[in-house]
Amino acid sequence: MAKSPETEQPQKAIGWAARDNTGTFSPFHFSRRETGADDVTIKILFCGICHSDLHCARNEWGVTNYPIVPGHEIVGTVTKVGNNVSKFKEGDKVGVGVLVASCQKCESCQQGLENYCPNMILTYNSIDRDGTKTYGGYSDLIVVDQHYVLRFPDNMPLDAGAPLLCAGITVYSPMKYYGMTEPGKHLGVAGLGGLGHVAVKIGKAFGLKVTVISTSPKKESEAISKLGADAFLVSSDPAKVKAAMGTMDYIIDTVSAVHSLAPLLGLLKVNGKLVTVGLPEKPLEVPIFALVGARRLVGGSNVGGMKETQEMLDFCAKHNIAADIELVRMDQINTAMERLAKSDVKYRFVIDVGNSKLQ
Ligand SMILES: [Zn+2]
Ligand SMILES: [Zn+2]
Repeated sequence: MAKSPETEQPQKAIGWAARDNTGTFSPFHFSRRETGADDVTIKILFCGICHSDLHCARNEWGVTNYPIVPGHEIVGTVTKVGNNVSKFKEGDKVGVGVLVASCQKCESCQQGLENYCPNMILTYNSIDRDGTKTYGGYSDLIVVDQHYVLRFPDNMPLDAGAPLLCAGITVYSPMKYYGMTEPGKHLGVAGLGGLGHVAVKIGKAFGLKVTVISTSPKKESEAISKLGADAFLVSSDPAKVKAAMGTMDYIIDTVSAVHSLAPLLGLLKVNGKLVTVGLPEKPLEVPIFALVGARRLVGGSNVGGMKETQEMLDFCAKHNIAADIELVRMDQINTAMERLAKSDVKYRFVIDVGNSKLQ
């Protein structure tokens, strides 16, 4: 049984919580633990709205433990540090992503792959080591072990940089791991939402030729003129799809609706790689002939470890990459969520927590 964070911990906090599967948000008073020896306390300034936040708020994955305060694209300022903290000092700009703890002993943790630790603790909707529930970034402050806190680069905008902490690392990590970074190679990005638009920018920074693969032709001009894609393929146009068969080296598939992999695999060359990072609610079929016949690979990936997440932030800062965002106040979350459910956002909502009235 989780203890009650509303009464039992010393640092008072206020956030916005969903309390049932309508996913409606309203102000929520709770508390955070004292700043421990290895902890950093952060005043939250901005928090991105990830599609997982919406799934969890509405209990669409069936694992939500209400009340829930989502948010795992957190950017803020350090206000307190514990005695053992050497990486950060008061006033530093920092970020927190999808996880706030892991066992630090297992093979994954030893390799810096905390994101695959079987005992990792998520930033929200998890049970922390002290038995309390974790609450995320739709709130005024958070206390996190320094190992899970990222240094936010000086030239990175705090608001537009926030979505990199989930959306950015979700596409950067598989590109690095699967070797999808060779300059001049051809990357397809399936789906142009929060993840896809960042994948386009990161792909261009690696020197790839980038083609956006999308069902909606109206996104074409913006994909090319604003996001910097080289080409646009309307996946519902059979003639264009046929012409593009066998032309791509890699595909990042960000589509989270149930869809067929066969048309995407057909776009790949021999030895082509398709990595899925969206999470459709039902299993996808793997068309074996399309794999076997051209030595193609289908892989998966889930965010990234702490070291690699820092590397990604530094890479994005160096290449002036941030998300395209719509800034909203906390009292606009319910409207933002309704729009997000309809994919009506370019391309990520970010909550201006620091300038919001929270109660
Ligand atoms: Zn996320
Ligand atoms: Zn571990």
